Amino acid sequence: MTLGDAFGSQFFVPPNRHALSSRLLPPAPWQWTDDTEMACSIYRVLADHGTIDQDELATSFAARHDFDRGYGPATNRMLRLVRQGGDWRALSAALFDGKGSWGNGAAMRVAPLGAWFADDLAEVVHQAALSAQVTHTHPEAVAGAIAVAVATAVTVNDPDLPAGHFLDRVREHVPASMVHDGIAEARQLLTISDPTLAARMLGNGRQVTAHDTVPFTLWVAARERHDFEAAMWTTAAAGGDVDTTCAIVGGIIAGSESNHLPPPWRGRCEPLPSWAGAPPLDHVRATY
Ligand SMILES: [Mg+2]
Repeated sequence: MTLGDAFGSQFFVPPNRHALSSRLLPPAPWQWTDDTEMACSIYRVLADHGTIDQDELATSFAARHDFDRGYGPATNRMLRLVRQGGDWRALSAALFDGKGSWGNGAAMRVAPLGAWFADDLAEVVHQAALSAQVTHTHPEAVAGAIAVAVATAVTVNDPDLPAGHFLDRVREHVPASMVHDGIAEARQLLTISDPTLAARMLGNGRQVTAHDTVPFTLWVAARERHDFEAAMWTTAAAGGDVDTTCAIVGGIIAGSESNHLPPPWRGRCEPLPSWAGAPPLDHVRATY
């Protein structure tokens, strides 16, 4: 997912539009963004505790928060207040006039959790919801995180599942929501091959909501689970919140053994932070 995040973040810069149309890799270094920073906290908490301890996760999110990594304004403010001693439960629930955030931030960071608990889908659902609630209490954001985590677990367990069955299996575990309905729509759109058209129907994260982000990423993942590079170019071509859509797709499909990180991509990507305690990128597949 880090490679997707860092790759996708290159396409906010206008000169790289040429690279996108010609599939020329942008020049190094590719810096990862908030998606990776938060995923590293999830990995760290799982490695230390074996479960999503929400207090530990909130503390890590706040302690590791780097303002320059492209966080949304609501998250920037919330993590600053947590760092100053605020109660994350109250702050998270109070966002957006008490509705809670339905942004895509809970989905963008959750793929490693799906891989961690892959042998128990009920646990994937439970832990994904716990991880979401620390910053995103709205049911759409929680559903988005569940969908991405389950999609990763399903890819780890059954990488050769046909695309339609893959989406059906993920949707079975997602609570009733616009995310759920969007996955059903993505299933209907498997017959088309134009990512721009699919993104027009499903959303591409431009609104940075979970339901505007997750269905399209699952559409790409369902179609391109066996070709990491094609999946990344397809996702980037749709525009929108590209670092996040690429992080999600990269995280999901890295669960497939057939996907090895291409060395020219790996070599351009900024290393993971040492505090994460995660294996270096050249030793692992794209998620981990
Ligand atoms: Mg980001």
